[in-house]
This record gives sequence, structure tokens and C-alpha cells, in this order.
Amino acid sequence: MAHDLDKLGLNTRSIHAGQDIDPATGAVAPPLFQTSTFAFESCAQGAARFSGEEAGFIYTRMGNPTVARLEEAVAVLEGGAGGLATGSGMAALTTSVFALLEQGGHVVSSSSVYGPSRVVLERDFARFGVTSTFVDSSDTEAVKAAMRPETKLVFVETPANPTLTVSDVRAIADIAHAHGALLMVDNTFASPILQRPIALGADIVMHSMTKFLNGHTDVVAGMIIPATEELLVRIRKSHFYLGAVMDPHQAWLVLRGLRTLSLRVKAAQDNAMRVAEWLEAHPKVRWVAYPGLASHPQRDLAAKQMDGPGSLMSFEVDGGVEAGAAMLDHVKLMTLAVSLGGIETLIQHPASMTHAAMPREARLSAGITDGLVRVSIGCEDIEDLLADFEQALAHV
Ligand SMILES: *Cc1c(COP(=O)(O)O)cnc(C)c1O
Repeated sequence: MAHDLDKLGLNTRSIHAGQDIDPATGAVAPPLFQTSTFAFESCAQGAARFSGEEAGFIYTRMGNPTVARLEEAVAVLEGGAGGLATGSGMAALTTSVFALLEQGGHVVSSSSVYGPSRVVLERDFARFGVTSTFVDSSDTEAVKAAMRPETKLVFVETPANPTLTVSDVRAIADIAHAHGALLMVDNTFASPILQRPIALGADIVMHSMTKFLNGHTDVVAGMIIPATEELLVRIRKSHFYLGAVMDPHQAWLVLRGLRTLSLRVKAAQDNAMRVAEWLEAHPKVRWVAYPGLASHPQRDLAAKQMDGPGSLMSFEVDGGVEAGAAMLDHVKLMTLAVSLGGIETLIQHPASMTHAAMPREARLSAGITDGLVRVSIGCEDIEDLLADFEQALAHV
């Protein structure tokens, strides 16, 4: 690498990390190595690659130059020891839990995590004797109270989906470490431009790169970023045997998206602040949850541990589910779709969509009310966005 990227700013890192000039051809854009396997010059070389005596590629499930560029890029952005690219964000979670937990192990997690993250922990891992307890992790005392001798992992999402509650990463890292457990943070909502959990004490960061890191709503992808070499080696062992790895073409597309990450995140955040203030002042809107608003219960914590409140928010229209549906059915510029972190604004209804698999009781106790609407603000012109909200709310 031409520069010591760790010392450079985040804009520079997102543009240059993993983007070294190709030594073979001088290509400025990263080459796509769309191959499943790599030839050896001799049996001796093959043996040396397998034993690890010689660096080099063997087989794409175990490593690929295009995927390796992306792993390095995201690790540089997050300040981790390295990256392990996965086929989806869910694969980043399941691979990490599979690698780090034993039968009888216990996970403490946030009650309002991404819906499928909760389902896989509560239903699938439980079948193999790995159990989980979900607490409101914005309440640090609740995390402490849920810790058990067999707790090996604390897994939090902050800001959380879709309630936008913020958890204190540093305080939770201290609790986890005092109990001999690791802390993993799902950093999908903030992206490394706005929050770097490893610097706050987290042991592992995971991403759904489907969202901000790729940013163009055309790839499903994930990444695990362990803070230390020891954890990287430990998780890598399970990673390529489990096989939830990334295809080179996926990696190439995310590398392309990454180069504009900081521009996109900041443009969307500027829009989001305006939308949040506008919605909060609207007579048909009951409440708005956005970490940049004075009304947000953890606004000071968000300001302390993040470099900005991001571009996700949730709100409730007066009149509950029916009113929310009336609004959602009339958006024109915004798109009624799940997912987030793309350049376009997406709006959805968690109770009937992303969190529909959760029992209603659990959903309500996690703060996900029937009428809650989640919106991921994009990079459109702000006047056009506000006009769309205005005309859609007129149908309520
Ligand atoms: C989307 C998402 C996931 C899951 O990622 P996939 O790429 O869809 O598998 C996990 N966590 C959060 C916060 C997400 O938004």
C-alpha cells in the first residue's frame, strides 16, 4: 500500500483503501478476478500454499484478490485487524456466532435488533444449545443484569432498527469484558463514516454491506471486522468451512460503492436532519425518533459516540396502522420497500414487513408499535422529498 491509510482521514480512506493500482497492468480501477480457483506452478508450491508457508491464493472460498481488497478496505475504515467478507449481512452474524459460541453458551442482545437477527438467535441457534436474552441495550444496567457466567457474546445494534435507540458502546464493552465476554456491534445503520465501534471498545464489528457500504441497492453482502488478529484467525477458520463467503463480482461492486461512501452518507444525513425537523413539526405526526433531534432520549450519547445522527428515522402518523398505511400507499418519489442506506429514499412499515416474524408482544415491548413507519432518507433534493411527504400525508 502506497500510504499508511490508518493515519489519513475517513474521506481519503473510503476513496483509497483497497484501491491500489494493479501492479500487473496499471489499472486504476480494481480488477475483477472472477475465478473459482488458482493454478500452482508445482506440487511443492501447492503444498506450501496449503500449509501457509507461502502467501497466495488457492480457491475462492478460501480467498480471492478482489474480495481481499474489499476486506482490507472495510478493515481500514473500521480500524480492525482485517475483514471477512460474507454473502450477506445475516451470514456475517451467523458465521460470527457459529465461530465464537459453544453449546451451552449464551448471548445478550438488544431487543430491537434487525428482525431476522433476533429470529436466527432465538429460533435457530437455540436448537443447538446457544441461547439468547434480549434487553433494551440503551439501558446499560439491563445489559449488566442479563449477563450470566455462560455469556460469551454481547451483540448490540446501535442506532437500533427500527426504533433508533442508541446504546453506549464503551459502557457495554466494559460490562462484556468484566464478564469475560466479547462485544460485537452491528454498525450497519451508522457506517464507519459516522461510528467506529472498535475505537469505543468493541471486539467485532459486523455490517450488512447491502446498505450504506454498497449504497446503490444492487448487491446483498456482509462483512465481519474483528479488532484483533487472534479473533480474525478464529473466525476465519469457521468462515471458509461454513462457506457463507462472497462472490468476486459482489466484492467488485461493493468496492465501487465504497468510493462514494462518505459523500453519500453526509448528503443523506443533511437531508435527514431537515426531514426529521419538518416531520416533528407536522400536525399529523405523533412522534419522530431521530438521534439528531433534541427530543431523542439518547441524543447526547449519540453526539458523543457518533460523528453524526445518520439518515434513518422512524415516526408514527396520528391514527395508527390505517393512517400509516394511507400515507405509505401514496408516496410517489419515495419507494415503498424494505432495505436502507441506498442513494434513494425508501420507506416501510416494520410491523407488517421486516418485523412481521416477531411475536406482537415482543415487537411492542421492543418499542416497535403497530403504526411505526421507518424511512431511510436518500440523496434527492430536499424540496422534492418534503413535497412528497406533504402530498402523502394529505391522504391521511
Ligand atoms: C439488513 C440488515 C441486516 C441483514 O443484512 P442482509 O445483507 O440483508 O443479510 C443486519 N443488520 C441490519 C442492521 C440490517 O439493516
